[in-house]
Amino acid sequence: MPSIFSRIVAGEIPSYKVAEDDKFYAFLDINPVNWGHTLVIPKKETDYIFDIDDEELGEMIVFTKKVAKAIKKALPCRKVGVAVLGLEVPHAHIHLIPLQNEGDMDFRHKVENPSPEKMKEVCELIASNFEA
Ligand code: 5GP
Repeated sequence: MPSIFSRIVAGEIPSYKVAEDDKFYAFLDINPVNWGHTLVIPKKETDYIFDIDDEELGEMIVFTKKVAKAIKKALPCRKVGVAVLGLEVPHAHIHLIPLQNEGDMDFRHKVENPSPEKMKEVCELIASNFEA
């Protein structure tokens, strides 16, 4: 059965897409730890990120860098933090989180009831700053 993220890529489940190319897809985390919290996934489904072959993993990092640049331009932050957990969804993904301080990387903290309007606004801001 395809992962929930493969179903997002296929358009079966809606997402706040910020960028995509032929191999990778970036979208807002539905339960963000901070505004602009974004996930980058390979369209080809692999559970564990370090099972992805070297060439594709390299391409994934380059794509992730472009997304991080768009986040940094779009939102006030000192840097964009990077994390890989993968404990919940068995489809490799990189978390990108705009940071003002190290507490912004705390996965136990979530934005309370993120409104669809604000999610859409943040998504469009990041998407409009993405350069392929
Ligand atoms: P992890 O697997 O890295 O531990 O956590 C999975 C992440 O995916 C969580 O931050 C969670 O909020 C996010 N997530 C889970 N299901 C969905 C979904 O259907 N849509 C979106 N946009 N994010 C999701």
